[in-house]
This record gives sequence, structure tokens and C-alpha cells, in this order.
Amino acid sequence: MDSQAKLNNYLNENFDRIVSMLQEWLTIPSISTLPEHAGDVQRAAQWAVERLSAIGFPEARIVSTAGHPLVYAEWQVDSQQPTLLIYGHYDVQPVDPVHEWSSPPFQPTLRDGYIYGRGASDDKGQIMLVLAALEAWAETNTTQPVNVKILLEGEEEAGGAAVGDYVLNHPETLRADAVLICDTHMVNAGQPSLITSLRGILYTEIAVSGAKTDLHSGSYGGVAPNPLHALCLLISRLKSEDGSIHIPQLASAIPAASLTEKQFWQEDPLHIQKELLVEMGVNKMVGETSYPPLERIGLRPTLEVHGIRGGFSGEGAKTVIPARAVAKVSLRLPANLDPNEVFGWLLQAVQSNMPAGYQFHLSNLHAGKGISVNPDNPYIRAAAEAVEVIFGTLPVFMREGGSIPIAALFDEVLQVPIVLLGFGLPGDRVHAPNENFSLDQFRKGMKTVADFLGRIRHSKP
Ligand SMILES: [Zn+2]
Repeated sequence: MDSQAKLNNYLNENFDRIVSMLQEWLTIPSISTLPEHAGDVQRAAQWAVERLSAIGFPEARIVSTAGHPLVYAEWQVDSQQPTLLIYGHYDVQPVDPVHEWSSPPFQPTLRDGYIYGRGASDDKGQIMLVLAALEAWAETNTTQPVNVKILLEGEEEAGGAAVGDYVLNHPETLRADAVLICDTHMVNAGQPSLITSLRGILYTEIAVSGAKTDLHSGSYGGVAPNPLHALCLLISRLKSEDGSIHIPQLASAIPAASLTEKQFWQEDPLHIQKELLVEMGVNKMVGETSYPPLERIGLRPTLEVHGIRGGFSGEGAKTVIPARAVAKVSLRLPANLDPNEVFGWLLQAVQSNMPAGYQFHLSNLHAGKGISVNPDNPYIRAAAEAVEVIFGTLPVFMREGGSIPIAALFDEVLQVPIVLLGFGLPGDRVHAPNENFSLDQFRKGMKTVADFLGRIRHSKP
């Protein structure tokens, strides 16, 4: 039996046990953003350390931080082999509204070929399939095909600083030839994909003030400044109905896409536009109609209002003119742009579009750069080959609209290829009630990662 057949056999024979280990991990409510779950986050980290030791990692430990702990593990097999750094996160999102779950979020349940539970897809399930692949190598070959380093964090869903600080302060510990991140999804079950770019993000808050106190609209309406109205005007000036964003420097900084990519977006052979309409439950898209929807999601910048607060929004009527109003506004940005530089551009745009008679303050709440990887490198090629062998279909290369700030930091600090090979599906309901992960994707995912590990042997430059 060749090595690949041995790995696949091992993973098939042990599938039920691997799934039940995932279930055990999923029962730990490691919700990083809620302080009352700090002990559970710690327990989930400890669980991962024990699993890594059981697989055979000579080094597997908790790294204490100012926030939730990191998990670090390392298995050096041969200095002539490349080193792969694998990143994932073991924390999860909160579960409310809990009554919308068909089965309790922390009692992972198998139904109709899916595993349901918070973290099933994002990201414990995807880490578990990587651990299964590593276990298969250890059990069938007594070792790993390449040197492996693992870094798991417990603050991804809470935007914590621990992992970023660690990466910045321990570049030598993390030194690797490539990074593997399993925390994304594919186009659909029949169409595997690899991600070649992630947009960056700039998240801001705009506070606008008018009068020194709230005023009555009868006594002062007609002369009083209304910060809520000013915010609405400002936002509509920053982005018009046709979706165009009015930040002059931004327009000229957007990179051009390749002709192949443009053609793919235009032709949309996978009918992603149709799927997007179904997923959103709408029959018409909004936005820049002169760009295909895939380009709008993958490459174009966005400007979104997430919430506006101020004045009165309770039951009944209250004729207040608020003294102050606040909006949360974010931009998704092409990978080449530095979000902190874009913040300066946004500030100028807000200055020149703010109606007269108001004071404002713009704050940068967080900024994360995007990444863009050249698919023509040995690690991405190996991932594409592994996907093709296991899924029986060539993967497409996709730009992902979302942001993974840690990927940008790896890119900046380690400067090695980042393989964004995720096995989630668009219907996984991550961050929502009834999060789930397809067991078929889980099974194919473990085999793909096992195959990938074998393929990157001897690919050290
Ligand atoms: Zn995630």
C-alpha cells in the first residue's frame, strides 16, 4: 500500500473516533468575548495541548498571555525538510439567540451528515481535521513528513492582541517556510477553492455633536443643529446610491486585477451571483453595477454603516433634537492598501463632507491589512494538487472579501507563502445559530491536509 492509501485508510478507519474527539472539544464553551467563560477558554486550550501530546508532538504547551492563552506545539523531524506553521483558533463566538438553535450549541449533535454545534466549522472542526491528518502521519509513518509548528489562539473572535504580540516578539520561534490556515470556506460542496487574497479592514467611529444639550423640536426645530441628520448627510456623501465611495485617494489606489480573473468574474461559471442572492434572501443586489459582484466582494473597497446611535428610538414619540450622535463605519480594503493610511484619507473626506455647524471626532477602532498571495509558489501548488486528488476537481482561486488580520501579520513578519485552505461551506452558519460542518467536508479535509503534508516534502527552496 502506498503512503497516501495508508493515510486515507487510517483516516477512514478512525473517522468515528476522530469525530467523537471533535464533539468532546466542542462541548467546552470557549467563548472568548465573555469574561465568565475565561475558565472554559483555558480548558479548551488545555484540551488541544493534550491532543497534540497524544499525537506525539515532543513539544506542546500553553503560552500564557495578558489575555487568553495560546497553544504552541512543535515537531522537528529533519532540518533538510521545510517547516510548516499551522495557525487556528480554539475560541468561539457567543451563541445567542440560544432559542434559535435546533440542538444546544455546546451539545454537538450529528444530523443528516452534518455536525451541529458552536465552533463546528469556525474553527475547532477545521483544526481537528488538521490534527487528524497529523495523527494519521504519526500513526502510519511514526513521524511527520515535514517539520511542523502549531500556533492556536483563544482570542480570534474577541479581537485580542495576544497572538499578534506573540508573532511580533517570537519571529524566530515561528520561523517557517510556509503558513497553513484552515479557517475559511470553499465556493460550495462540489467546487473546492483556495483563497489568494483577503481584504483589509478599517473600523471607525464618527461622533458628531451639535448643541450643548438635547433640545425640544418645537422650541428649537428650524434653527438647532441635528447631529443625527448630519451623520445621515455625511454618510450619503461618502457613499452614493450607486455604491461609489467618495474618498478621492482611494479610487486611484485600487489595484488592477488580472485578465483571467476579470474574465472569471464576468463569466461567473460557478453561478456564485445566484448563490449570493439565495444566501442573502434578496432578488436584487445593490452596489457598483459597473463591476461584477465577485469583484465587488473580492477586490473593490466597501464602506458600510453598522449602527447609528443617538436621540430617541424607544416606544412611542419623543420630540428630541439630540445633542450628539455616533455612527460605526467600516471600510474593507484591497490587500495592497495600508488601513492606517486610508484612515487619513477618510479623515479628510469626513472633514470636507461634514455639514457646517457641527463638531466631529473620528476614531480608528481597529485596522488590519489584507493579504494577497501569488498562487504560483510550491506550497499553493501542492495545496491545489492535494485538493484535486481528494475532491476530484481542480480548485478555483478566489479572493475572499473578509479579513484575517493574523494572516497579514504572518505575511509581514515571516514573509513566506500563506496557504488559505479552508473546508467550510457557505451554509455553515458561522457566528449564527445552528453552526454546522459537513462531515463529508471534514473527511475530505483531513485527507487533503494529509496529502498536502506529503507533497511539500523536499520543497524547501
Ligand atoms: Zn474563524
